[in-house]
Amino acid sequence: MNPDAQKSSLNGARQGAGAAAWCPACGRPLTDKQSLVVEYWRADEVIYDCYCSKCEWNGEIVVGPRVVIAEYAD
Ligand SMILES: [Zn+2]
Repeated sequence: MNPDAQKSSLNGARQGAGAAAWCPACGRPLTDKQSLVVEYWRADEVIYDCYCSKCEWNGEIVVGPRVVIAEYAD
C-alpha cells in the first residue's frame, strides 16, 4: 500500500468512528450501555457492526476507499 492510500485509509477509519457514533435508523447515539458497536477490518475497509438498543436496528456501517453506486437506466 502506498503512503497516500494508507493515509486515506486512516482518514476513513477516523471518519467511520464518527459515523458509528449515531444510529443510522433513528439517529440516537450508539454510546449507551445497551447498544453495541464492534469494529473490524476487511481488506481496506473498516466495518462497524452495530446494534441500537433504542430502535433495535442492527447492521454494518462500512467505511472504505471507494463507493459503489447503482445507476438506473432512464
Ligand atoms: Zn436506532
